[in-house]
Amino acid sequence: MISHAAATVVLSAVSSLVQAPSRPQPDAPIKCSSCEEWNQPRDAFKVFGNTYYVGVAGVSSVLIASDDGLILVDGALPQSVPLIDAAIRSLGFETEDIKLILNGHAHYDHAGGINSLQRFTGARVATGSAAVRSLTQGMPSPGDPQAGYGDGFPPIANVEGVADGDVLRVGELAITAHATPGHTPGGTTWSWSSCEEAHCLDIVYADSVSAVSAPGFRFTGDATHPSIIDSFRRSITTVSELPCDIMIGAHPFVGDLDGKLEQRKQHPDGSNPFIDPGACRALAGDAMRSLDARIAEETAK
Ligand SMILES: [Zn+2]
Repeated sequence: MISHAAATVVLSAVSSLVQAPSRPQPDAPIKCSSCEEWNQPRDAFKVFGNTYYVGVAGVSSVLIASDDGLILVDGALPQSVPLIDAAIRSLGFETEDIKLILNGHAHYDHAGGINSLQRFTGARVATGSAAVRSLTQGMPSPGDPQAGYGDGFPPIANVEGVADGDVLRVGELAITAHATPGHTPGGTTWSWSSCEEAHCLDIVYADSVSAVSAPGFRFTGDATHPSIIDSFRRSITTVSELPCDIMIGAHPFVGDLDGKLEQRKQHPDGSNPFIDPGACRALAGDAMRSLDARIAEETAK
């Protein structure tokens, strides 16, 4: 016969199991000069149709919803995970329903939260083939222009590689990978269609296409690696040519997310400011000009 005290212990263990809040456990926070500012909370909002912004103030995460499950694009910083989880729940969805997590590029500010989110959801994680090793090791690829900084992030256990043009599905959702290397070797831009009744739009999650590097790296190549200029230019052209009614950048300042939000607040009955068919071309134009400036700087030396 079980004693009263033992029964109480068993009961309280059972009830704590039942009541235990099921939330993703974040990995240790990453410290960086912008991390605190980036990781400020931001209210989640619908961008269009089944596409929602669930990221933090300075780093994007996007949710694509269906009755068959959710897709999450990018996991921001490790310390962003509780905020992303809360953002998803504030929209009435369950983080547990994420079936697929995609990554734009293998840097700590976009891949840092993915390990925790994968542990919690058991979701598939996919990224460009050239970034798989980087994600599973939690380090930038050796060919990454910013590898010299050595900024790691929590390694992710199971990662699938995708090729340019691959389509990944969760139920009725379909999302297409576009290889956009340059900022990193495995950089991948993602596109899908979202509808409001019969009105369907092409949405692009534009991965970073900025020519940023650690000191000493040359985009024009040197004794340690060949030039990556041609593939970088092709990536920027890819972004400019994508069907793109709405563009969401890997950081919200790309494409002026805050300006569009403010405009929507000022004119709640107006047209959706996120519908901006020139946004991908504008991003590509800026990226090409800054890459050209970088090349000029390298050749002048
Ligand atoms: Zn980056």
